[in-house]
Amino acid sequence: MDSVIRPKNYYYDLSQVKIAEIKASGKRPKLLLHSCCAPCNSYVMIMLSEVFDLTLLYNGSNIVPEAEYLIRSNELKDYTKSVNKQYNLNIQIKEFTYDTQTFHKELAKHDDGREGGQRCRACYKIRMREAYQYALANDFDYFTTVMTISRQKNSIILNEIGNDLNREYASDKYFFSDFKKKNGILKSNEIIKEYDMYRQEYCGCAFSYQQYLKGKVSNG
Ligand code: SF4
Repeated sequence: MDSVIRPKNYYYDLSQVKIAEIKASGKRPKLLLHSCCAPCNSYVMIMLSEVFDLTLLYNGSNIVPEAEYLIRSNELKDYTKSVNKQYNLNIQIKEFTYDTQTFHKELAKHDDGREGGQRCRACYKIRMREAYQYALANDFDYFTTVMTISRQKNSIILNEIGNDLNREYASDKYFFSDFKKKNGILKSNEIIKEYDMYRQEYCGCAFSYQQYLKGKVSNG
C-alpha cells in the first residue's frame, strides 16, 4: 500500500465535513473510539462528545509489562469518569482481554526493527481491525482511532488503514481524522496538565520497552 500524497489538512478537512453533515442532520450518532491511553484521549474525547455518543474501545495487548497496561487502563477509566461527571456524559469503555502473548506472536511476523516502520503499521492494523469488527458487530454508526492525535504516529498511514478497512468490510463506518491539527496537541497538553495525567515513557510493545530500558541505562 503506497501512501498517496494529500493536501496538508486533508483528513482534518474530511472530519470537519462529516461533523458539519451530522450537525445539520440533527442526529447524535454512536461512535466507537479506539483508545490507546488517557493522554491521547484527553481533548479528542471531549471534542467528539459534542457530536457523538461515544464508547471507548481499549485493546491494549500491545503493552508490556502487564503492570504498565494496568496503569494506562486505570488512568483511562479514571479520566473517563471525570469527563462523564464534568460534562454530564455517559461514555462507556469496552476493554478487551489482555493477551500480549498472542499479540506479540503476530507482531513478530512484521518486525523490521524500527519504530514507525512495518511493525508499527501491522500493530495499528491489528488493533484497528479488532475495533472495526467490534463496531460492525455492535451497530455503531462510526468508528475511528484516537491515535491520529499522536505526534509519533503517521496520520496518513492510520487513515489509509481505516480506508482499507472500509473497503474490506464494504462499509463506510470509518471516520477520517487528524486530531493533531488545529492545535489538537496543545489542547491535549493543557488537559493532561490540568488532570496531572500519567504519561507513558514508551509506546507499548516489547520492542519499544527494550529501547526505553536501554536508553535509561545509557543515560545513567
Ligand atoms: S512501537 Fe508502538 S505502534 Fe509500534 S509496534 Fe510497538 S506498540 Fe505498536
